[in-house]
Amino acid sequence: MSGIASNPFPAVFAWLAAASYLVAATLFLLGLQRMASPVTARSGIRWAGAGMVIATIATFLLPGLGNLALIALALVIGVSLAWISGKKVAITDMPQMVALYNGMGGGSAAAIGAVELLAFAAAAHAQFSVSFGPGLRIASTQSDGPLPATTPLLLATIGALIGAISFSGSLVAFAKLQGWMDKRLVFPGQRIFNMLVLALAVACLYLLATGALATWVIVAFFLAALAFGVLMTLPIGGADMPVVISLYNAFTGLAVAFEGYVLDNPALVIAGMMVGAAGMLLTRLMAKAMNRSIRSVLFSNFGGATGAAQEISGTQKPIEAGDVAAMMAYAQRVVIVPGYGMAVAQAQHKIWELTQKLIERGVKVKFAIHPVAGRMPGHMNVLLAEAGVPYDLIADMDDINPEFRNTDVALVIGANDVVNPVAKTDPSSPIYGMPILDVVDAKNVVVIKRGKGTGFAGIENALFYADNTRMLYGDGAEMASALVSELKALDGGH
Ligand code: NDP
Repeated sequence: MSGIASNPFPAVFAWLAAASYLVAATLFLLGLQRMASPVTARSGIRWAGAGMVIATIATFLLPGLGNLALIALALVIGVSLAWISGKKVAITDMPQMVALYNGMGGGSAAAIGAVELLAFAAAAHAQFSVSFGPGLRIASTQSDGPLPATTPLLLATIGALIGAISFSGSLVAFAKLQGWMDKRLVFPGQRIFNMLVLALAVACLYLLATGALATWVIVAFFLAALAFGVLMTLPIGGADMPVVISLYNAFTGLAVAFEGYVLDNPALVIAGMMVGAAGMLLTRLMAKAMNRSIRSVLFSNFGGATGAAQEISGTQKPIEAGDVAAMMAYAQRVVIVPGYGMAVAQAQHKIWELTQKLIERGVKVKFAIHPVAGRMPGHMNVLLAEAGVPYDLIADMDDINPEFRNTDVALVIGANDVVNPVAKTDPSSPIYGMPILDVVDAKNVVVIKRGKGTGFAGIENALFYADNTRMLYGDGAEMASALVSELKALDGGH
């Protein structure tokens, strides 16, 4: 390509780059390991970030690197945007940001795939002679006409397919999380249509990977892949978003790894494989938490429930903060169930203060965490860790569910879908089959929320109408604060 300058650096820099990639990959690995625990997670992010800086700088040492000014400009724009948005983003908007960054990763992999395919095509027609990686070196030895299938060509195309799906799908997920789009968008014959679009993308992939590198095939391939990402995400709603978000995370990792192989870049291969493997594990965990098989996830069997929702009888019964404080102060066992509303209200610090007050009075307090509570995997654990809640007070769904029967007060703060009993009782519900926290089994349930707003799935919650449930209406942080004040008043102001 004419824009590529000759390499000004000696060959030793190539070795230095390779060594730096190894150091970067080691830092990614160690960082990931540290992210496994909330105690070391912050430093894990720093380690992985340092690895990323080293890998980026090392890239400038590579032989044959051209367009340095353009790369520098892209870096300045990218770093500035990330810096500003990272500083400004509200903690509640973090899930959208994660979806957006994930999409950018997939998009970058797809873009690399596109450049590679165009370069393969150019080499096949002997119009250019330039080396982007091992794949292109093989391609450039071919004469005019279709290329034989080569591993790099195949991997570049697969990476591009996965990356493009992850890019457009993540953007739709972002729009849904941001509230810009309907949670579920369905139309008749949707699944068949989706499968046809995927079939078109795969057919183009076959053509490309076997060397039929015509421009129209490349264009059709990317259009079909991008369309499939959008179509696959449109019907997903209810409570299934966490599964698809982690799936796209895995897709992005795999796409980056494939393109890393084609570019002969070990840092990309290792980082991509780690993200891909971690994303796959997370997808399995999320699917298990939602009681969905990965097969049903892959074939868009999301939120397939139809029919009218079952009637919920009863009324919502309000309660005052003073009565709730008294109820908890004289309880033996209290379980606190946080949800997305706690994140919105940033109530975790007040909730921890409330917990400490109860513990001082001899009440046994635990936190119950649903795997998809909030808007990103581990959302509640992160918030509680930030507030300083000790890990031994935090229980997973499977461990805590049998304990609700012996719980005097279950305090639900900003959780809705994850405590909705219709998931067990109403087959027409979009969350039917999703395991929930069995809060309704507690002797008394108190729900803190601002009003009658629905959760992410957009459905009524039978728990709020149950005989043993009382509603403490108000912002999560304000109500938690009111409960702390009432408890202090009970203790004579201490
Ligand atoms: P929900 O989204 O079901 O419910 C949140 C509730 O919080 C609302 O009903 C709202 O009611 C209340 N709320 C909002 N703001 C406040 C506030 N300031 N103070 C008090 N209450 C407030 O949350 P859950 O955590 O129960 O469920 C998570 C949902 O998100 C699931 O459906 C899950 O599948 C989905 N999801 C999860 C992801 C993940 O990775 N964890 C990713 C994407 C989606 P009101 O307006 O009346 O106050």
